[in-house]
Amino acid sequence: MRYASLSLDLDNQWSYMKTHGDAGWQSHPSYLDAVVPRILGFLAARGLKITFFIVGQDAALDKNRASLASIAAAGHEIGNHSFRHEPWLHLYSAEELDTELRQAEDAIEAATGIRPRGFRGPGFSLSEGTLETLQKRGYDYDATVFPNLLNPLARAYLFSTSKLTAEEKKQRSALFGTWKDAFRPVRPFQWRLADGPLLEIPVTTLPMFKVPMHLSYLIYLAKFSRLAAHAYLRFALATCRATGTQPSILLHPLDFMGGEDCPPLAFFPGMDMTRERKLAIVGELFDILAAKRELVTMGEHARRAGAVRESLPTLAPAFPT
Ligand SMILES: [Zn+2]
Repeated sequence: MRYASLSLDLDNQWSYMKTHGDAGWQSHPSYLDAVVPRILGFLAARGLKITFFIVGQDAALDKNRASLASIAAAGHEIGNHSFRHEPWLHLYSAEELDTELRQAEDAIEAATGIRPRGFRGPGFSLSEGTLETLQKRGYDYDATVFPNLLNPLARAYLFSTSKLTAEEKKQRSALFGTWKDAFRPVRPFQWRLADGPLLEIPVTTLPMFKVPMHLSYLIYLAKFSRLAAHAYLRFALATCRATGTQPSILLHPLDFMGGEDCPPLAFFPGMDMTRERKLAIVGELFDILAAKRELVTMGEHARRAGAVRESLPTLAPAFPT
């Protein structure tokens, strides 16, 4: 059976503001109360269970507890998306990484009752130290690799809309991943680490073409032509089929929000659409996905990939310094 895994990085308003260098993020403004029920309703209507990668800082704040608990109560998988959501996580020391992951695990478990077994780095930040920390802490999988040739363009766009200083840009120089990431596999593989292997489930980009197929990108295409976005997704799924790739598809809260939901994030691509238009587009894209694939959580994807562990490629954790 062909399948695809779905995961949603539950980035909150403050984490976008922080990455973009906007004032006011320190009070952790949140849209979770508004958007989480909408996302859960959308998934329930389609009978889907997915993986939510939650930021520890959000779980540590009382104002977000009810909405985060509702995700777990609905039966979705809960993953770790770091505590502070700093895209320069790969610059942390081993000790800082351990503290960051543990704090997030503790806060997420306190809010949802679930201790995460999977991890995705903020802004696709990844390092050998992060992988080793994940393995030491007993994680089933990492889901950070994003082999996307357009990543450096996305970073350049974000910088061009921000007021970041030269130093802040340097700190964010690996945001969305580097050129090297683009040449990593789009399919599950294993990292060869000092203490044994760790499973990686990359965010799938088009096999061979290495251009994105995550939902925000498809929505961006649909802004110009819904039919073109549909055709692109069908082509992406056909390419996955031809190459025997079970894709892992990434979602974000902004995929379920219109400009009227969060004016401070107007700089973000696709946030010039209304909520109604965007939800209609997302519904159509999900119809195509569900017609072509069984849709599962990341944990289930990791379980199925792990069952054929011996046949997976193994990579050394080489990262640019
Ligand atoms: Zn994120």
